[in-house]
Amino acid sequence: MGLVANNGKEERSRWRFHPVVFALLAAFFALPWLGVASAAAAEPVKAIDYNMAGDATKMRIVINFDHEPDLRWFLLRGPNRLVIDLPATKMAIDAKDLKARGLVRGVRYGVLPNGSSRLVVTGKGPFLVERLDVLKNEEGAGYRIVADISAASEREFDEALSVQAETTGSTVAGNKSDRVSKFPLRRFTIVIDPGHGGVDGGAEGLSGTVEKEVTLAFAKELKDKLSESGKYDVFMTRDDDTFLRLDDRVRIARQHEADLFISIHADTISLKGIRGATVYTVSDKASDAEAQALADRENLSDRLAGIEVKSDSPEVTDILIDLIRRETHSFSMSFANTLVDELGTSVGLINNPHRFAGFRVLKAPDVPSVLVELGYLSNPKDEAQLIDPDWRGKAAESITNAVAAFASVKAAKDGTF
Ligand SMILES: [Zn+2]
Repeated sequence: MGLVANNGKEERSRWRFHPVVFALLAAFFALPWLGVASAAAAEPVKAIDYNMAGDATKMRIVINFDHEPDLRWFLLRGPNRLVIDLPATKMAIDAKDLKARGLVRGVRYGVLPNGSSRLVVTGKGPFLVERLDVLKNEEGAGYRIVADISAASEREFDEALSVQAETTGSTVAGNKSDRVSKFPLRRFTIVIDPGHGGVDGGAEGLSGTVEKEVTLAFAKELKDKLSESGKYDVFMTRDDDTFLRLDDRVRIARQHEADLFISIHADTISLKGIRGATVYTVSDKASDAEAQALADRENLSDRLAGIEVKSDSPEVTDILIDLIRRETHSFSMSFANTLVDELGTSVGLINNPHRFAGFRVLKAPDVPSVLVELGYLSNPKDEAQLIDPDWRGKAAESITNAVAAFASVKAAKDGTF
């Protein structure tokens, strides 16, 4: 389906969610003496239910109808919204299904002055509509709307918005050169993710060092070092002691259109005597039992914070498998190898220092991502190093060198240098 005429500003000013006004307008248009409206209202489409599945990086919305709905959809910004306009529709939807979840901050619906219905899905941040289809139900009667949305940057949302405006010709969206000047060439962007935070303290060393504090201190140091060159934009998923869901960390990376996502950790490991830095990338099969155990523990972070973790819906599980096949994964592998080489020149490494497992925090489909265990708090020598400013400075320097090497390879590949 295509986009239909719209104008963000105009739509927004016409559309107000005032229940009394809408009730009056709806009653007015439903009056039998109003010929056309009453004919249309005679047999309204019925929305039977509304379902959402996914997380803060990707959601699928499915709405079931008793018969085929004729719809149009478009985006609005401030806040980022997906608007679906339907014919006069009887909304037999359970209010609890509309509650904020994952990438969706809220869902509302109402009646427009012309008697048609509108459903508004508000994003937690910018997003892209990857598909929006009306499908006939294979089993049973009726039709369903299936919409897939995924976390994106404001720039991507704005681009989708301007393409939509250009498609319809209903607004002065400017020509292509305007758009280019509006979105200047981006700098290489790194998102640093200090592991754990808030109620999730992470691991604890024998001398009482807490992982969430080490990761934050190191991340700040790394950010400063990367920023020194003036070549990169550097962001952090958190810069204080707050708890962040794993999928929100991924969403933040996508929001900044990161070229690289580096999650910083310093966990404990059950094997005595194991120490040194390790670089992890994502995989559906773990490289070894320790990597698997570590990923399992990291993935429990949300549950530690009292968030109910439901088993992933098939669409979400697919993402991990799909991701392995993409170019992103080869970038992650390439950065991990560079990082291992650089860290090897300055700090001690574990045996087989590039390992892999199914870390949820590394699953951004289009952001090369690694998780660095700087060392293991279960080892007293590693613990001492992790709180030593000299050691941390050397480690941050090595990671910065690896980022520089990776950024120049990527720039050559993209032809942007
Ligand atoms: Zn950790």
